[in-house]
Amino acid sequence: MEDLRPPLRLIGYWSSADTPDWPNPNDWVDLDWDDRERELVAIYLAGGIHAPYATAGPSECRICKQANGSLELTDGTYLWPEGLAHYVRDHSVRLPEVIVQHALKWMDGWMAKTGMWTRHGGGRSATVQCDA
Ligand SMILES: [Zn+2]
Repeated sequence: MEDLRPPLRLIGYWSSADTPDWPNPNDWVDLDWDDRERELVAIYLAGGIHAPYATAGPSECRICKQANGSLELTDGTYLWPEGLAHYVRDHSVRLPEVIVQHALKWMDGWMAKTGMWTRHGGGRSATVQCDA
């Protein structure tokens, strides 16, 4: 049977000897990127769904060399390495605008439904519903 699902688009995979045409995260660092927008994108990326297969192994941050995860995450449209949120949050690696807008649109909808962002003053937090 033909698979009619659109292919996942890859983001956050960087150039290497095998992939010289892929981007270098150092080229995308934007230290003037708005802090709140950057944090929203990082939260979005960290909240992806784990891809249901084993990945190639641990990766290292191309900028600070720390261990940076080994999983892949997806939202059904994009597929990215677990460590992409680290590049965004800790190194201000600004992703292409179409991806930033995709993430912000989703986060806007989520915040409108839950009201969590405004209720907790913008910090990361979780709410537990308890009927007892
Ligand atoms: Zn790093």
